[in-house]
Amino acid sequence: MDHISRFPDGVLHHILSFLPTKDVLRTSILSKRWKLVLDTYPILDFSWGDCAGQSSDAMYSENASDEYRQMLTKFMNYVDTSIFRFCKYKFSMQKFKLFLVLPDLELSSHLDKWVQKVIENGAKEVDFGIDLPGYLHFKKPYSMPDAIFAAKSVTVLKLFGCNVKLEESFCIKLHSLQKLALKEVQMDDHLLRRIVTCCPLLEDISLRFCWGLKKIQVFELLRLKKFEIYSHLSKPESVEIKSPSLESFHCSFTVRSVKPIVSVDACQGLKSLILSGSFVTELLLQDLVPKFHVLESLRVGDCPVLKKVKISSWRLKSLEIHSCENIMDIEINTPNLLSCKYCGSVVPVSLINAPSCHWQVEFSLMNTLDILWYMTLKEFLAKLNQLVYLHVYVYLTTIMSSLNLEDLSNNASPYVVDNVVLTVHSASPIMTYANFMDGLFFFSRPKNLFIRSTDEQKRYVEYLCGFSKRALSCCNHRKVKCWRHDLKEVKLGSFVESADGMVDYNRMTSSFFWLVKGHTHCKMEWEL
Ligand SMILES: [Zn+2]
Repeated sequence: MDHISRFPDGVLHHILSFLPTKDVLRTSILSKRWKLVLDTYPILDFSWGDCAGQSSDAMYSENASDEYRQMLTKFMNYVDTSIFRFCKYKFSMQKFKLFLVLPDLELSSHLDKWVQKVIENGAKEVDFGIDLPGYLHFKKPYSMPDAIFAAKSVTVLKLFGCNVKLEESFCIKLHSLQKLALKEVQMDDHLLRRIVTCCPLLEDISLRFCWGLKKIQVFELLRLKKFEIYSHLSKPESVEIKSPSLESFHCSFTVRSVKPIVSVDACQGLKSLILSGSFVTELLLQDLVPKFHVLESLRVGDCPVLKKVKISSWRLKSLEIHSCENIMDIEINTPNLLSCKYCGSVVPVSLINAPSCHWQVEFSLMNTLDILWYMTLKEFLAKLNQLVYLHVYVYLTTIMSSLNLEDLSNNASPYVVDNVVLTVHSASPIMTYANFMDGLFFFSRPKNLFIRSTDEQKRYVEYLCGFSKRALSCCNHRKVKCWRHDLKEVKLGSFVESADGMVDYNRMTSSFFWLVKGHTHCKMEWEL
């Protein structure tokens, strides 16, 4: 026997807990010893998608093929055997995770049995998800057995795609519950209140895309630290949280007609606030923010009603305003702000007091770019002490008016920006952007310019490099010279995007290689 196999089961289980489920299962073929180790492994993870390797078309069809049903039955038999074998040893289960995509609820009696077994076994963490095709998922979801509410030892309960109902006489015994995460779950206000009342240890509640809730009330949870609710399905009238320990509150409703009354005034310990939806108004922000004396992070996004953001706070360190299409005006008096991210389609008129703040700014340009636009942008950028990142998205429909540089000139030195990203539409010829670059580079001097375009970036590079290498005659008869005369050199590099598709500006500046198609990094040296 090898050295590792001689380790006690507990040590081997601990080692296995760092591996993905697939690799854990593979160890069973090593030897009889490992098979036994696996039988008693206290983390039972049955994620159908991972194991079956099925395409989503095959999985999410009401008319599932016989082949699919056979595979599913085989998988469910495997789950069945594994659960019963584990429970036979009478060890307690650390974690039970199940995610199944079923064509219908024909086999749901298995699920009821498993829930019962897992709860009896004293599982600490339960993560249970059932996905059904189309209308079944929302109209006739799987009904969770009452037994789940009697799980005394469960500390983390995550449910997905089910309906939870409970007899009035049933006594909820989730006494150890610390984290409750419900996603696409049907339930009502009364049950939520009952859960809250019976689970005094709850620290974290997450309600994502649940429906059936009208008046959400969470009171008197003395340990509650985090509460999040977001939905595009339900239309709650109010969300009311009263918990002095609450540190993080996230409330997001993306349907425009949904405007619940949101009340978190009593949560004086709030450090992080995320709001999104039509219920977010200028008045709400003005009223709410000053109430939280320890608030450090504020994020508002997708708030179509918001026209002006006026924030005054001594403690605020991080601020994000994104995709609020009607914002025209921002007034920020936050002397201790360290980072601010602003994403929008309009350059806002602004009053800013944030001397140590690092800014990341993104504009999606749907409008006409005329002299007024450049002037507003120039004014806006001049108010930001340290702009680390400016990203401009230009669309095919963006109209670029021709510019007279004399109109832009006010003798102020150009503004140095660490990173400028241009996302351009490759269908437009490069000369369409010549005016745009004239305007943008007239008052901003990027150290790094990143061009994102599907396949035309090579032409941009040639365009830019061309200017730095030859004598220019473009401004011979002008008083005000264009940016090309100050450009000493353009060096080429490349960068990689981060996994979520956002540009990671830290990685951008650290990578300096010439390769990736579609993304080009130009290091620009300017005559200052
Ligand atoms: Zn020129």
